[in-house]
Amino acid sequence: MKTLDRSPNGLEKYRNLLISKRSELTSSLRAKLETLAAPDNAAPEDLAPVYHDQFVALQLNHFDSMQLKMVDSALDRMDGGKYGLCADCGESISGKRLEAIPWAVRCVSCQERRIPARESPQWVELVA
Ligand SMILES: [Zn+2]
Repeated sequence: MKTLDRSPNGLEKYRNLLISKRSELTSSLRAKLETLAAPDNAAPEDLAPVYHDQFVALQLNHFDSMQLKMVDSALDRMDGGKYGLCADCGESISGKRLEAIPWAVRCVSCQERRIPARESPQWVELVA
């Protein structure tokens, strides 16, 4: 397997992936916060679905903000020269994995050792 090019040039495309993910997340968070404002003139009985929407929006926000945190910390690791190194074994994370999940903290084998693959992969990436 080709090892990850960790030079500034080699990392540039992952940085771009992270930055575009970051702006996607911040604008979606902003859009959701705007929908959170309950209408002033709603009758109390009309508010139940609004509260439900708020609840759903908050859950989604939680998911987005967690992902945002992962993206930010990946950018931090990049600045600190640690990007692309597995947090557990210190080996290079494969470029293919980083293209799919540019905020990945661990290599595939360490990730699988931690959390059985049968669990939701997307969620697993977020909480890992
Ligand atoms: Zn590892």
